[in-house]
Amino acid sequence: MTSSGATYRPHPFGWVPSGGLRHASTDTRPHEGYPNGFVVGTLCGHQLAAENTDLAWSWETCRTCDDKAHELAKPPTPPAASAR
Ligand SMILES: [Zn+2]
Repeated sequence: MTSSGATYRPHPFGWVPSGGLRHASTDTRPHEGYPNGFVVGTLCGHQLAAENTDLAWSWETCRTCDDKAHELAKPPTPPAASAR
C-alpha cells in the first residue's frame, strides 16, 4: 500500500442533523451523508436517527458535538513541554 500523495482526510467525523440540532459523529458515513433515519452514535454520546433534509441542515450545531469535533480536528501536535 503506497501512501505517497496522502489521501486527503479532512476530519475523522461527519455532521448529522437530528432532533433539531446538528451533531457530529465518527461513524462511517456514505459519500452523500447519512441517509434519513440512519442511526449514528454522536460525539455527545447519543444514538440518533439522521434527518437528511434541507431544513435539518439549517439547525443549530450541538454545542457538545461542536466542542468534541474541534478537539478531533486539532492537528496532533505534542504538548510543548518547554513552553514555559
Ligand atoms: Zn451532539
